Amino acid sequence: MVFFILHSSFFIIMYDINKIREDFPILSREVYGKPLIYLDNGATTQKPRQVVEAITNEYYSVNANVHRGVHFLSQQATELHEASRETVRRFINARSTNEIIFTRGTTESINLLASSFADSQMEAGDEVIVSTMEHHSDIVPWQLQAAKKGIVMKVIPMNDKGELLQDEYKKLFSEKTKLVCVMHVSNVLGTVNPVKEMIAEAHLHGVPVLVDGAQSVPHMKVDVQDLDADFFAFSGHKVYGPTGVGVLYGKEEWLDKLPPYQGGGEMIQSVSFEKTTFNELPFKFEAGTPDYIGTTALAKALDYVSALGMENIEAHEQELTRYAMQRLKQIEGMRIFGEAEHKSSVISFLVGNIHHLDMGTLLDRLGIAVRTGHHCAQPLMIRLGIEGTVRASFGLYNTKEEIDILAAGIERVSRMF
Ligand code: PMP
Repeated sequence: MVFFILHSSFFIIMYDINKIREDFPILSREVYGKPLIYLDNGATTQKPRQVVEAITNEYYSVNANVHRGVHFLSQQATELHEASRETVRRFINARSTNEIIFTRGTTESINLLASSFADSQMEAGDEVIVSTMEHHSDIVPWQLQAAKKGIVMKVIPMNDKGELLQDEYKKLFSEKTKLVCVMHVSNVLGTVNPVKEMIAEAHLHGVPVLVDGAQSVPHMKVDVQDLDADFFAFSGHKVYGPTGVGVLYGKEEWLDKLPPYQGGGEMIQSVSFEKTTFNELPFKFEAGTPDYIGTTALAKALDYVSALGMENIEAHEQELTRYAMQRLKQIEGMRIFGEAEHKSSVISFLVGNIHHLDMGTLLDRLGIAVRTGHHCAQPLMIRLGIEGTVRASFGLYNTKEEIDILAAGIERVSRMF
């Protein structure tokens, strides 16, 4: 008991929500004359001053192209860029910076892997396992490859709570299975999939796994070695970093085997019209000038959340989610999609017969930013038998007061119908 009191007061001191919110100037703006309640963190997160300042500082005082120049600025910019790679490595606990490929985001990371993996490791009739709840970016890149190579997709079904059926998953493996591509956390249901166990299962069959971590990295501590993920993708902008930069992690032994995705500068060792040799890892997969300003800002964002503590962020968001689930369930006609045992800070819902777009538009007028629609997961919508949902997704700076305002807003809109 004593421990609990000490522990919880320590948590309150460490996690000073008012102080945290001051780091995000946008949170104090108004929309339609009302305080902004930003609950669309699944789509993108707001940026702390530290991240924005890293961008302006680098443009104002360091800017030069990386890896190319002998001059001072170029070397300094290169050092910042490569230090950011080390920050990412540490953040997800990869073994080596050779395993950290900078991309434009989760989508590009998955396209890179799908293209490079299918080209070199798959032939007609080979299978990739995905799940019912996948984001389009975990489905369409494989369909593009399927159209070129005749690859077959197999789909893990889920129960009505929004949990993947593990027994069915195990049955999907065959000697043709070449890869599993599964999301860590659902952007619609909030389900935290048991990816560690799913990876272990795939490895029993000698099959590597690509984890889409777009919705896990911002909300929980991720350790790619502990998961034993072969590949892991995430976006900077969903973890309080800038847009246009993301990461593909890959085990070095895999990345060594895979061919480049795009050709151009940076990714070559030597070029002649007869023969080109490719650069070493990680540069083999990074054609052209990288977003070196973006990588510095991403590293700042990762430093920012690390300083708060991913465990503290997760505890705060779990508390918000528990509170919101309880509060929203009191609303008449409320239907919540996604009641998994292990759920992240995403709540998708519909109320009575109110169209998701109407609910979202009217909440917006009250200053509440939520997402509406299919959330780039149309196969999941088909499984749920709906066209779309309203989605509230919480981040590290949200509060119970904001959830109260959301609940009151939903009740007010409901009364109008
Ligand atoms: N996967 C998941 C689970 C997502 O939520 C998203 C973004 N909604 C993506 C992939 C795509 O991320 P990005 O648009 O940053 O590439």
